Amino acid sequence: MVTVYASSSAALQHSYYEAATRLGRVLAKAGKTITYGAGGKGLMGSVADGALSLNGKVYGVVPNFLQELELTHRGLTELRVVEDMHTRKQLMLENSDAVVTLPGGSGTYEELFEVLTLKRLGQWVGPIVLVNTNGFYNSLLEFLQHSIDEHFMGNKHLKMWSVVDEPEQVLEALETAHAWDGEALQFANVTPANA
Ligand code: AMP
Repeated sequence: MVTVYASSSAALQHSYYEAATRLGRVLAKAGKTITYGAGGKGLMGSVADGALSLNGKVYGVVPNFLQELELTHRGLTELRVVEDMHTRKQLMLENSDAVVTLPGGSGTYEELFEVLTLKRLGQWVGPIVLVNTNGFYNSLLEFLQHSIDEHFMGNKHLKMWSVVDEPEQVLEALETAHAWDGEALQFANVTPANA
């Protein structure tokens, strides 16, 4: 099962939606089940539509208040309605082997940074792949490097994520991701010795 984090925006350049649709297709073709935030619009909607168009399985997890806004995709394989955003994030990662992040805003960053933090602490150990459509994540990647250069994070933490330009490169990135395990807790904190 692959968890996908992605923008809810319906006002992006066409190329972002096109890449998100391709990601959905790539994952469906590979037989991967997708879990995501259940949105029917934005890059979320495109990923789901792409996967569903090839009969892929797509599970959505949505908090009650968002479902009431009728922003939810209506054609999903399964929709789980939960109490709040925290439960949703937890459920989206439960049984998930990997995370793929498309471009997004605060919601996507929050999800990405939560899973990065869990991975840093050895609590969730799957691959995390950023799809850098149109170089969207370049400045974030620079900032992460800056955090390492300034020793807020360690060099080893660079291996927590990988970056691809195109959705078609995601499967290889998942397969070749640096192995990670609970030992990560030993170097979660940066010290003068491991910086
Ligand atoms: P953002 O990148 O700020 O658009 O937020 C998108 C991410 O936050 C998705 O991965 C969702 O899990 C969650 N999210 C935010 N807004 C919505 C919405 N309207 N419908 C469904 N999920 C949303």
